[in-house]
Amino acid sequence: MTEKYDAIVIGGGHNGLTCAAYLAKAGKKVLVLERRHLVGGATVTEEVIPGFKFTVFSYVVSLLRPEVIRDLQLSKHGLTVLPLESTITPLPDGDYILRDSDHWATIRNLKRFSARDAEAYDEYSHTMYFMAKAVKPILGLVPPDPTSLNPFELMPLARLGRHFLGLDEEHLYTFVKLMTMSSADFLDEWFECDPLKATMSASGIIGTFLGPRSPGTAYVLLHHYMGEIDGVFRAWGFQKGGTGGIAEALAGSARSFGAEIRLNAGVETVITKNGRAVGVALVDGEEIRADVVVSSLDPRRTFLQLVDREELPSELVSDIEKFNIQGSSAKVNLALDRLPEFTALQTPRGTDSPLRLKAALKGAISISPSLDHIERAYDQAKYGQFSSRPYIDVIFPSMIDPDMAPPGKHVMSCFVQYAPYNLADGNWDDARREALGDAVVDTLAEFAPGIKDLIIGRQVMTPKDIEDVTGLSMGNIFQGELSLSQLFFLRPAAGWARFTTPIRSYYQCGSGTHPGGGITGAPGRLAALEILKS
Ligand SMILES: Cc1cc2nc3c(=O)[nH]c(=O)nc-3n(C[C@H](O)[C@H](O)[C@H](O)COP(=O)(O)OP(=O)(O)OC[C@H]3O[C@@H](n4cnc5c(N)ncnc54)[C@H](O)[C@@H]3O)c2cc1C
Repeated sequence: MTEKYDAIVIGGGHNGLTCAAYLAKAGKKVLVLERRHLVGGATVTEEVIPGFKFTVFSYVVSLLRPEVIRDLQLSKHGLTVLPLESTITPLPDGDYILRDSDHWATIRNLKRFSARDAEAYDEYSHTMYFMAKAVKPILGLVPPDPTSLNPFELMPLARLGRHFLGLDEEHLYTFVKLMTMSSADFLDEWFECDPLKATMSASGIIGTFLGPRSPGTAYVLLHHYMGEIDGVFRAWGFQKGGTGGIAEALAGSARSFGAEIRLNAGVETVITKNGRAVGVALVDGEEIRADVVVSSLDPRRTFLQLVDREELPSELVSDIEKFNIQGSSAKVNLALDRLPEFTALQTPRGTDSPLRLKAALKGAISISPSLDHIERAYDQAKYGQFSSRPYIDVIFPSMIDPDMAPPGKHVMSCFVQYAPYNLADGNWDDARREALGDAVVDTLAEFAPGIKDLIIGRQVMTPKDIEDVTGLSMGNIFQGELSLSQLFFLRPAAGWARFTTPIRSYYQCGSGTHPGGGITGAPGRLAALEILKS
């Protein structure tokens, strides 16, 4: 007979670990059960090729909530985020758009393409900063149920309503536009330079099965503006050692508060008695009892796999069956003999120095030369094919943290869009995986011609691989599309956005709950606070 716990958390991804750490900090006896041999889920670093450490899935951080960092003392447990200071968009004619922390150099750079855009850039940044600040309180709020008759439950909604009505006219209109428009249309209102709009619009399509011209993507654009690092709003960074370091810091924190973490411990099912969760059964048959069971898995697994559907209202089962969770992203990680030479980075333009251009390799390189490039990439995915010339977000982790690769060698992280989970002409197999890898390398070679000769090894993660390794259903990186119909009090389903489930003592805490995906720790924290309240 194993011992009994106050709470069992299913899944040791970053949200499961966050939830466990908060519960343990409050004095609860907590057990985390993780299916894999390491914690992190989509937040792991693995040495797939000897000497080369890959950020296998997620690669940059910004959205991790400052209160989580503070409350769980993550810096003490190894959280060290190094700044990612620039984004460069190489263009087919050898030119580039470079935006970095040197504000005036950025403006001068934009002026080469459009004096109007250079002028609008600051105002746009201020507007987005303001809008992100205005919307941000939602991230820390347990979604109220708008159909509730309980005035205490409706109070936060009323406060939020007042908050938005308090915006001046111009910001209120911008808010409505951000909630309804496509990122391309929204950016069209500000800028005329196509590659600039393409690169900015990319934040609106990351992880979604939508193109930059699809309505609703302007919200995702805003979602990615809500991050901050060390108090610097909107900044993105790279965790030393890769994103696995974030999971390790969270695990260290959880353990320091007394939580137990068991690896290689896949949960088969949640055990219920009289409509209440009383424990879990592991894949190997072992049963473990607890007063509370929390699932950090996506809504499909939480509701349709871990428990018997018969125990749930049929509307909830139907809502979760309809929950949009089709993946659209892939990841290609390359081990390189040395840095590739991007044509656009060879010749400084305007007043740029060679040094400034070289430093761009420590930032993001966006393969987004035009809006059409991204929209065409999406068109193929719409009809069940992966993009033959995808949008790619590249970083060189080894340029930011030299420990990521052997001396002189490099790792290259390529986030790829689009790769649909469901292919029109069959399933993802070895041949299709390699074909996707080839399409990514061929596209990169258009901008860095010699790259193919430098590749020592490559790892291609299709949406099916993402699902198989992390458990993220259909490879959706956010545990479900970040569309307006699946956010706030509708995430994951109307009536079940407050981390509870119809089964008493059975809770949810993954990215499929409010406020959604990305390395935020927000769902894990909010769920823990709700559990502790009850
Ligand atoms: C390719 C890719 C790139 C991304 N890039 C970024 C990025 O750069 N920045 C960013 O902020 N976000 C990024 N994301 C999104 C972000 O990583 C995820 O939204 C987030 O990590 C999800 O965390 P989670 O804890 O909610 O879920 P998960 O990470 O999915 O954790 C769930 C955990 O449960 C475990 N598990 C599954 N089934 C069982 C079971 N039956 N029993 C026990 N354990 C189980 C899994 O192994 C996993 O560890 C990316 C995601 C992907 C896939």
